[in-house]
Amino acid sequence: MKSTTTIAVRNGLETDIQYGSVVPPMHLSTNYCFDDALSPREFDYSRSGNPTRALLADTLAKLEKGAGAIITNTGMSAITLVLQLLKPHDLLIVPHDSYGGSLRLFKAFADKGCFKLDIIDQTQEEQIQSAIAKEPKMVWLETPSNPLLRIVDIQKIANKLEGSHTLLVVDNTFLSPLLQKPLSLGADIIVHSTTKYINGHSDVVGGAVIAKTDDLSETLCWWGNTLGLTGGAFDAYQTLRGVRTLPIRIKQHEQNAKKVVNILSEHHAVSQLYYPGLENHIGHEIAKRQQSGFGGMVSFELKGDHNALIQFVHRLQLFSLAESLGGVESLVCVPALMTHRSMDNDAQVKAGIKPTLIRLSIGVEDGDDLATDLKQALDTVLLGDKD
Ligand SMILES: *Cc1c(COP(=O)(O)O)cnc(C)c1O
Repeated sequence: MKSTTTIAVRNGLETDIQYGSVVPPMHLSTNYCFDDALSPREFDYSRSGNPTRALLADTLAKLEKGAGAIITNTGMSAITLVLQLLKPHDLLIVPHDSYGGSLRLFKAFADKGCFKLDIIDQTQEEQIQSAIAKEPKMVWLETPSNPLLRIVDIQKIANKLEGSHTLLVVDNTFLSPLLQKPLSLGADIIVHSTTKYINGHSDVVGGAVIAKTDDLSETLCWWGNTLGLTGGAFDAYQTLRGVRTLPIRIKQHEQNAKKVVNILSEHHAVSQLYYPGLENHIGHEIAKRQQSGFGGMVSFELKGDHNALIQFVHRLQLFSLAESLGGVESLVCVPALMTHRSMDNDAQVKAGIKPTLIRLSIGVEDGDDLATDLKQALDTVLLGDKD
């Protein structure tokens, strides 16, 4: 069938029968006329179904090779939706280094008795083994992880779960379907914060759930409508506009990441570099096998103290100091002080997040410009700020 790139660019074009518009129009109407009182048409009310949202769902389902998708109003509501599949006695297994908001939600629901929760280090074989022995209802993966880009072998875990009734869920936000297809590796459900690479322009917050089977897709659709988690038409329109350029954006993110990694790996002010594309990265071999690229996220530890860190971040001109990731613009973030601030010291140490760890979301600017900017800021750290 058609390649991922062609699907991203063309899915749903030329479907407008009224005017023949190449790009399908946006449908903002909240409600739709019945043919007669006994005959609803395809859509009746926009919480349950909307043509613009349906096209985004169809496109993401095709990109991830799933049976269907549900578009939600945030990444967190996509996760909330998937958790509806659990009952009070079911066990959920999650990684200790999940996205902070996900971990907060897992714990809050478990505290309310919605399900049982085990938090483990999924890079440790024996922890996975003993977790699976407890016959969980759901295993949650996030690979590469945030911010250290640890890699978990999706297929290996899927194989261990074969024949059981355990659902395997993968948060695929960090790579997008262009670089990793978890359903093909044995997962049952994928979640995305479309806020990140899929929309890619840092101007829409949104989420998606993609299911492998029609059954799962129908159940999740029912919950999406019942809880009212579905996304708005305007957001869906804009997100689909982002999807059209996802393939070329991803290529540029990755090409730029390579240039940045080259500069960082040679610089004396960098004590540790985390990028799955590096041969010495602990998950490199798995990443090479299960991903079709290494992505645009890079983390590193800066030599020096808190002042060096503040100075470095201040000196950067082409990296905006902000949370989030996956947009066209490059970002720099200090996880210990920003994205992972809500973790206490102990939890940060356990997750390997040091005070001078820096996370970069590499944008699609000119890669040499980005590398040069990083180099001048790192040089300042070494020489000391003379201003
Ligand atoms: C951002 C993010 C989320 C949450 O998505 P929102 O769109 O912010 O609600 C979930 N998982 C990962 C990996 C993320 O990066």
